[in-house]
Amino acid sequence: MVFQTVRHKSPPLAGLAARHLQDLRRRDFVAGAALIDGRWIAGEQRDAVVDPATGEEIAEVARCGAADMNLAIAAAERAFAGWRELLPAKRGAILKSWASLLLDHSDELAVLVTSEQGKPLGEARYEIAYAAGFLEWFAAEGERAYGETIPSHKPASLLQVRIQPVGAAAAITPWNFPVAMITRKAGAALAAGCPIIVKPAPETPLSALAVARLAEEAGIPPGVFQVLVGNPIELSAPLLRDTRIRALSFTGSTEVGRLLLKGAAETIKKVSLELGGHAPLLIFDDVDLDKAVKGAMAAKFATSGQDCLAANRIYVQRGIYDAFVDAFAAAITQLKVGHGLEPATDIGPMTKLSVANKCMSQIDDAVRRGARASSAYQDGSLGSNFVPPTLLSDVTEDMLIAREETFGPVAAVLPFDSEEEVVARANASEMGLAGYVYTDSLRRALRLSERLEYGMVGINTASFTGPPIPFGGWKQSGLGREGSRHGLAEYMELKYVCFGDLAA
Ligand code: NAD
Repeated sequence: MVFQTVRHKSPPLAGLAARHLQDLRRRDFVAGAALIDGRWIAGEQRDAVVDPATGEEIAEVARCGAADMNLAIAAAERAFAGWRELLPAKRGAILKSWASLLLDHSDELAVLVTSEQGKPLGEARYEIAYAAGFLEWFAAEGERAYGETIPSHKPASLLQVRIQPVGAAAAITPWNFPVAMITRKAGAALAAGCPIIVKPAPETPLSALAVARLAEEAGIPPGVFQVLVGNPIELSAPLLRDTRIRALSFTGSTEVGRLLLKGAAETIKKVSLELGGHAPLLIFDDVDLDKAVKGAMAAKFATSGQDCLAANRIYVQRGIYDAFVDAFAAAITQLKVGHGLEPATDIGPMTKLSVANKCMSQIDDAVRRGARASSAYQDGSLGSNFVPPTLLSDVTEDMLIAREETFGPVAAVLPFDSEEEVVARANASEMGLAGYVYTDSLRRALRLSERLEYGMVGINTASFTGPPIPFGGWKQSGLGREGSRHGLAEYMELKYVCFGDLAA
């Protein structure tokens, strides 16, 4: 069964991103220079940045190597003493200026994000505001890194716990939120008093380098925030090996997270990992159908599905299953696929061809095994990074899409009968990032919020992330938390101090 609406063909997309980039007032945003120790490095070798919608080259960036990374590590270590000495309020003021600069340049940054990442411009603008929010939030939270005084178990003594910055940190960031995943890590590190070196994804370096320009303008001193682009293995090796890097934060695939955790074991760094998801969305038949469909649309199709929070397995109770599938299919067919810079676009290209290919193979596998597919219209002239928004219904647990993360605009719907059964199915995954429940029963909502084995649970909402919440997963979805006071703790060490012999 294929639902398709007829639409007009898109206008030619060739040159669209390049024209937008040419119009940017801030030419330095597309210079493609890395930031090492306060210097902008154009690089002897340059790598191409590509518009994922068309495959066209839109810019070049410096290709940094291991020697550059060693310089950056030394600079971060040198910068640590001065940065940690600044009063938290002063560090906070700098973070706030950085946030304001991000917001002031929101339109230009959004063009960069859309041009290299592919997401619709409106979502890119939202990401800039979301990203700035982390800087503002941590600017204040840095002033609240209180220690403790412990009632003593020893006579004439005073027991204190202090919280101190761990040292120079490193961040390896993904391409799906190329600005916000930097500020979520850097906001916490800098507020804690730690310099941070960022290695962004090679697909989305322009956004990261523009964020670095604004960091410099905000008054972040040399060596405190550095961005190096290049081969991930070559650049991460020195970070892993060097004892001066005390903390490593990574967002990306579980496979790479596992490699980095092993690599960091040599020097026993503090490691925080935000890895893949495989989120279940449980829809019970007591809910309002419209609300459930809106929730499923938001939980599945934001960021064109390239979101670790995306609802990957949508379990729908038998009583509303058919009605839900019809209404969900109708909503999906309304989605407009196109270039993110076109105003009407809901779903852009996948940033990486490998992600698009994985989606298509999951669709093929599911259909071969008996799932029903219905897709939104997609102009045939769009390139191979595009995946038509697709509903797969009657999905069974043996299908690839039910067993592995999708990371694209493909929704898998599976029927269920009882609460007991669906909780077992939802928890039968090695991933444990986020889960969603739609139900009108308060008792059931409370029960499920306890029983789901996920780091984050949304009850009757598909939108719950933001600076004050501890973002992170259970099981193989990661270690540690980002955002919230727990996110600050990833860059801090406890120090217990015992004052003895205090008797007069
Ligand atoms: P990835 O894990 O390969 O890339 C993420 C980051 O890791 C990038 O900066 C990349 O350059 C870096 N990297 C890659 N290999 C590395 C290595 N050997 N050593 C050090 N750094 C390395 O992710 P991907 O291949 O681009 O995407 C594949 C899948 O990863 C996606 O389909 C999705 O499932 C998952 N992913 C998850 C998130 C998330 O938000 N949790 C983000 C991006 C990708």
